Amino acid sequence: MRIFLIGAPGSGKGTQARLLSKRYHLIKISIGEILRELIHNKTSPEKKIKNLINKGKLVSDKTIIRIVKNRISQKDCMSGFILDGFPRTIGQAKIISKNEISVDYIFELKIPTKIIIERILKRKKDSLTPKKTYSLKNENLPHANNNFFFRKDDDEVIIKKRLQEYKKFTQPLKTYWNKNFKNKKIQFFEIDGTQTILNVYKDIKIILEKKT
Ligand code: ADP
Repeated sequence: MRIFLIGAPGSGKGTQARLLSKRYHLIKISIGEILRELIHNKTSPEKKIKNLINKGKLVSDKTIIRIVKNRISQKDCMSGFILDGFPRTIGQAKIISKNEISVDYIFELKIPTKIIIERILKRKKDSLTPKKTYSLKNENLPHANNNFFFRKDDDEVIIKKRLQEYKKFTQPLKTYWNKNFKNKKIQFFEIDGTQTILNVYKDIKIILEKKT
């Protein structure tokens, strides 16, 4: 099963990816995390990527498509995967329509802008006082891979830019999808991301477990 999760910044993609990956024993891949690791490791000319991310802008399709193709061709993805943060542009979706990347389900988590800004700013604040916020469940504990701490792009001005990028490049995907993917087996679903974490998860699970 190949599941792609898209949605505005702060819509809960990462959280759902974690829950779904546990439930279905699928590897979880986050494009944002891969990019942040690349920047951190300073392996190649990643300065350009860093600048784009820190300005709230999208990274080029060419780079993203290369990263995705490379990652999902690895052995641990053979029986399926959950990909958080792809496709975000028509250019990236085109690669799917050309069958260069295969997918079974795409879920878009929908959530109004105002709630998003509140959520991300809360995430930033909470990351500065982890003990207070993350004392209950392991599920909520920030950990090294999460790269959740001190994200430079979780700043109000940059969040607004990220949201603009989402509106400009990612929101039009639905129309693109309806026009170009009608006859394909790929299924595109919109999920109400304002619900509780558990209810969003349940909505996705119902779709995935629906008998055809
Ligand atoms: P969010 O979903 O909150 O924006 P991510 O961690 O998924 O957070 O992404 C962080 C940043 O990484 C994005 O703002 C963007 O710069 C870059 N990025 C991630 N996925 C993509 C993509 N598919 N295309 C272009 N840029 C991307």
